[in-house]
Amino acid sequence: MTERLYNADSHLFSFRAAVTGCEETAGGWLVTLDRTAFFPEGGGQRADTGTLSSARVLDVQERGDEIVHLVSAPLPVGETVEGRLDAGQRLRRMQNHSGEHIVSGLAHRLFGLENVGFHMGERDMTVDLSGELTAAELEELETRANEAVRANLPVRAWFPAPEELAVLDYRSKKELTGRVRLVEIKGVDLCACCAPHVSRTGEIGLIKLLSAERHRGGLRLTLLCGMNALEDYRLRLESAGAVSRALSVPREAIAGGVERLLGERDALKERVAALSMELARLRADNTPATEGNICLFDRVLDEIALRELVNLLAEKCGGFAAAFSGGDETGWRYIIGSRHADLRALCPRINAAVKGKGGGSREMLQGRAGASEEEIRRALSDLV
Ligand SMILES: [Zn+2]
Repeated sequence: MTERLYNADSHLFSFRAAVTGCEETAGGWLVTLDRTAFFPEGGGQRADTGTLSSARVLDVQERGDEIVHLVSAPLPVGETVEGRLDAGQRLRRMQNHSGEHIVSGLAHRLFGLENVGFHMGERDMTVDLSGELTAAELEELETRANEAVRANLPVRAWFPAPEELAVLDYRSKKELTGRVRLVEIKGVDLCACCAPHVSRTGEIGLIKLLSAERHRGGLRLTLLCGMNALEDYRLRLESAGAVSRALSVPREAIAGGVERLLGERDALKERVAALSMELARLRADNTPATEGNICLFDRVLDEIALRELVNLLAEKCGGFAAAFSGGDETGWRYIIGSRHADLRALCPRINAAVKGKGGGSREMLQGRAGASEEEIRRALSDLV
């Protein structure tokens, strides 16, 4: 049975231990020790990583009473090795996990909600609550959580005796078997949990709720604590700063700046549409009437204007009027109109000629052409 040093001291990041077993496996060696500070994956928290002497610790799992370390090199059985955890990573995880206990504990005490799901990723954490909260309640939850941090409350983790456990009211997701470990944050939370936690709530730093979405009749909160929250703040500030500089508005006013920009964009869209239509009419006026077909290529008109142009040109020709928009590289879209020819009957020949696909009515066809401008011009001049 491996002695679990992290249960007594969550801030023990280096230790010495004797190797009790080492066997080769896929991806490395499975090493057991007489004692370890490496936390095996459990309770929603991922396994610690670090080193055992010069070997990398890649994963840590529980196997019965023992803790098994997956390491990158074999270690001699019977020898003493030095273990070193990736302390920064462990501290971040403890900040997040202890912060989650505070939020879940307060959601329970203040609003009677249960934590029914928990996921701790490397970037953020989610907590699923059994019911919904208003925006004001969420703000209260966040404020109270940060007040618990400011109070720098002690965090106690212990294995209560069965008679003590029997009279305690603690949060727990499933019926627990075996020895139950409790983590208590006085006045805030009491919860069954096997993971290492901070020693005092002040270590957590900021607790920030990022979002709350409806989820299976409840709420899924996304939150960040401590260093992860600080890094997220930096990122958001940087991104808001870039928008602020681009719009030349103070960072606090970027939402208004973006709204103004979108308003300007909508006004420009309207103007472009009006200019497109004007240009289509001018082009139609400047195209001489013909008994044959009219074929033109365009790179600026929008689709509505292009259709207007085709309608106007269809009045000025004895065959059909075809407008192509796009380019040789990206391919062409076509609109073809006629007042005299039956376009539906002509459609297969037109598509074959322009290497395209499309269809429509007797009076109008729409589609795509794969041929080049030169090929299209040549092919359509032969079509009657
Ligand atoms: Zn926990």
